[in-house]
Amino acid sequence: MKGLIVKNTGSWYIVRTASGEEIPCKIKGTFRLKGFRCTNPVAVGDHVEIDRRPDNTAFITKIDERKNYIIRRASNLSKEFQILAANLDLAVLVVTLVNPETSTTFIDRFLATAEAYNVDTLIAINKIDLLVDDDSRALLEAVAYLYASIGYDVIKMSTVTGEGLQELARALTGKMSLLSGNSGVGKSSIINKLVPGARLRVGTISDVHHTGMHTTTFSEMLDLPAGGAIIDTPGVKGFGTIDFEKGEVAHYFPEIFKMSSQCRYNNCTHTHEPGCAVLEAVSDHRIAQSRYASYLSIIDDSTEGKYRKPY
Ligand code: GDP
Ligand code: ZN
Repeated sequence: MKGLIVKNTGSWYIVRTASGEEIPCKIKGTFRLKGFRCTNPVAVGDHVEIDRRPDNTAFITKIDERKNYIIRRASNLSKEFQILAANLDLAVLVVTLVNPETSTTFIDRFLATAEAYNVDTLIAINKIDLLVDDDSRALLEAVAYLYASIGYDVIKMSTVTGEGLQELARALTGKMSLLSGNSGVGKSSIINKLVPGARLRVGTISDVHHTGMHTTTFSEMLDLPAGGAIIDTPGVKGFGTIDFEKGEVAHYFPEIFKMSSQCRYNNCTHTHEPGCAVLEAVSDHRIAQSRYASYLSIIDDSTEGKYRKPY
């Protein structure tokens, strides 16, 4: 029998079959993901085959090939990985300019990681009701323009005034989406507005609570009224760490990558080389300084090619 994983409680995977029935399933043995040990080899969004028992429990026997998936390390320094979600159509990065202020480095790292995972990203700038004076309005327009000009969809919104909510609902319709962003930016508030019957706790949950140690649900698919679903992964801010190789970082900054074809040297790192088209574009503001700074910060952390991303 085939089905879709709609919930991971830590001990059970809930699989929804074509008839809409939800069956608790277990998985046997350890799975490897292209050589990487994986503590949690299947995830919400996976299409699986199950072997059903007379007592109405079942084992997952096969995982269909994924269009994409996102992982994180099981813990700091751990060599084991956890799959957070599979088969995503869209990642929604929720950011705020105040209360809290999302850093451009965080935004750009997230976007680069999503590019590496081959997941489309939409940036939802929430809490725009708090941006009342001219300066903060101008900042909002500048940030929205920057990311839209690179090619990302941007929605300016507020769960308080309702601005942008319809636009976001339309963008999510029919898609399997993941909401990410720092804590406090309004992810739970957004889900409560979009998913009828969802009553996620807003603003009060500590990070400890969020880790799943005291809750039973690791992640869950929340169906949208017009079709599609949001995957709720409590406590997960982003896509986890990817260890980039130096040479590939530019591939994940679309505007830098586009410009790099005009650099004098093929192996240009866009840091100091003569005839670098990227450096030139940064100096005359065709590439944003903040984006270039994020590029450099990822280059600084990246490896010389000893490590391969597990996907
Ligand atoms: P999460 O940690 O990302 O899930 O964020 P929450 O949904 O828990 O929201 C954090 C805080 O921001 C709560 O106090 C919400 O009431 C508040 N909040 C959420 N959306 C908005 C908004 O659009 N405008 C304002 N002013 N506050 C908001
Ligand atoms: Zn260059």
